[in-house]
Amino acid sequence: MTTARHDGTSGQGADIVHLSGAWLPRGEALVPVDDRGFVFGDGVYDMTPAYGGRFLRLQRHLDRLRFGLEELEIDFDLSGVEELHHEILRRNGLTDAPMATVYLQVTRGVAPRAHHFPPRSTAATVYAFAKRFARTSADVWARGFEAVTHPDRRWGRVDIKTLQLLPNALAQQAARAAGAGDALMVRDGIVLEGALSNLFIVFGRTIRTHPTSNQILPGITRELILEISREEGYEVEERSTPIEHLSHASEVFMTGTTTEVKPIVRIDGQPVADGRVGPVTTDLHRAFMERVRRECGVPATALGSI
Ligand code: PLP
Repeated sequence: MTTARHDGTSGQGADIVHLSGAWLPRGEALVPVDDRGFVFGDGVYDMTPAYGGRFLRLQRHLDRLRFGLEELEIDFDLSGVEELHHEILRRNGLTDAPMATVYLQVTRGVAPRAHHFPPRSTAATVYAFAKRFARTSADVWARGFEAVTHPDRRWGRVDIKTLQLLPNALAQQAARAAGAGDALMVRDGIVLEGALSNLFIVFGRTIRTHPTSNQILPGITRELILEISREEGYEVEERSTPIEHLSHASEVFMTGTTTEVKPIVRIDGQPVADGRVGPVTTDLHRAFMERVRRECGVPATALGSI
């Protein structure tokens, strides 16, 4: 296990980050105070999983990053970014890790504080780090997890993966304070997604998730789970869910890069159906892990538990 120390260095193994072309120990990577990421949260990020050193759907993550950069009109050439992902795993000794994540963020760069954009010649700031990820153990997963509903106070373009995560952080903190692991974002009576994951609601053999729109983040794991659900013969609906429908659900689960497939068995203190992890979630989790092995070309033994 790697233990985080207060200076941001890791207690074991390399913690080499990338900052605008330089490779540095984390504690030496410093950003000027006028960086627009620091002052305005003016930037985008993505996080891609690697299983046994092989990235899962890296191109889809980079497509989403490109979309965000275009929407925010940040000039940044993504051509070296795929290689950067491989290099950061190598530099951190993570090419054999059962699971690791690479975080990449791009801001509009350093400029005197003014709301309007600086000249287009301003260089974007790029920051990346890689981290070993400890997957949930099979027995903890099998007990299921708890979530709470929370008002969605995010802006109107959450389809862009911006750095501005304060409403997500507040929602997630409220969940923690209530003794739950996740917050479910609710707007105008519709339950949209989690604070850091997408939401699926199961009614018998029908699997429902909110359609892609400006109100949810189009998760790469969500996309994969929709594919897998169809392949496994389930009925799939991309449709919004009024919050009161949760009480009729047979199962609820969340998906995301670090969430994978996560069964939710209690919401706001009430059990989902019988309060146990259901067969559809279990089946999709198995199919998801099989797909990970196939797409990443790694044997089951390389992935650790579950
Ligand atoms: N929804 C939100 C708000 C998120 O922050 C994330 C991931 O960070 C997701 C959904 C899941 O997206 P992905 O599956 O691409 O990790």
